[in-house]
Amino acid sequence: MKYLITGGCGFIGTSLVSSLLSSKKNKILNLDKLSYSANYNLHKKVNLKYSNYFLKKLDICNFKNLKNSINSFQPDIIFHLAAETHVDRSIEDPLSFINTNITGTYNLLEASRTYWYNLTSNKKKKFKLIHISTDEVYGDLGDTNKFFNEFSPYKPSSPYSASKASSDHLVESWYKTFGFPSIITNCSNNFGPNQFPEKLIPNIIINALNGESINVYGSGRNVRDWIHVEDNISALKLISKKGQVGEKYNIGANNPKRNIDLVKLICKKLNKIITSKPTNIKKFEDLIKFVDDRPGHDFRYAINANKLNKDLKWKPKKNFEKSIEETILWYFKNKSWWSNIIKKKYNMDRLGLIK
Ligand code: NAD
Repeated sequence: MKYLITGGCGFIGTSLVSSLLSSKKNKILNLDKLSYSANYNLHKKVNLKYSNYFLKKLDICNFKNLKNSINSFQPDIIFHLAAETHVDRSIEDPLSFINTNITGTYNLLEASRTYWYNLTSNKKKKFKLIHISTDEVYGDLGDTNKFFNEFSPYKPSSPYSASKASSDHLVESWYKTFGFPSIITNCSNNFGPNQFPEKLIPNIIINALNGESINVYGSGRNVRDWIHVEDNISALKLISKKGQVGEKYNIGANNPKRNIDLVKLICKKLNKIITSKPTNIKKFEDLIKFVDDRPGHDFRYAINANKLNKDLKWKPKKNFEKSIEETILWYFKNKSWWSNIIKKKYNMDRLGLIK
């Protein structure tokens, strides 16, 4: 199969590329702008090692280059992951989110629609575009025990989630208007190795390892639903093979956790794993600090993935607590990776995320 991936150098894309490369029969083209969150060094190495993997620096906002790349590669499946993804940055600089997440998605839909339209009937039947979106498009469940399903209304709260919601609407309308074979996936918060340091779980681990304060927004009672990135990848691959075009699938592993409970769990694991603690603390919990809440901070997200479980027989495999431990160990062993990123700053000090 020929897979074209946008944003394949990001956190989820890196895991997807690595999983698709496990079959020598696959040919992969990764189109990535190589923005601040891209794992460029890692992909440079993978690019040299595998003759069936091609990495091309490309901004999906450039319609002409995007169209040429699609037409010359002739993909069977497109996974669309390229996006601006950090909520705090979307509050600082919404325009880059509008450009990449909305205009970029429009460009991809138009370029791939004309490509698909001209395919032979055999290739046309096989072709699908899988749009990778988020549970944040559904907005806030409030202080309830409810879950989002595929019929939940869209009520985005941040410029990030609004731009992703817009991209979902574009994808859906391309299916309804043009019959363009696309599928939307809405996934909960991912975690695992190679995630950019500003995201919640790496941020907690890195600040703890550095003996810096672990900042918790508001009261810390906000709930996020967590899934290991490899479980998301297994769902995405299954959806690309067996999913119905025109459908939406929620992806989640049923791990809703209050932020403060997640922070405490990570501290508990760190106390166990890390024998040489930073000198300023007795236990990692000493670093927890409550800070002003983020504007428009949704209280609770939680995903009901019954449709994916029932229709495609998908189940997550990773145990949450064990995966948290593995993730801590990964960041512990890969200090040079995240230290280099932090040195470059990428506006993270301005956002008050990493000291
Ligand atoms: P990431 O920020 O780690 O990676 C994004 C990648 O997209 C980077 O490699 C970046 O260089 C690339 N990119 C950005 N703008 C681009 C452009 N204009 N043209 C080409 N490439 C561009 O993000 P991630 O966490 O890997 O998320 C991937 C996708 O999954 C996003 O669409 C995101 O909305 C969605 N998603 C993420 C999560 C999560 O928890 N991480 C949850 C649900 C959905």
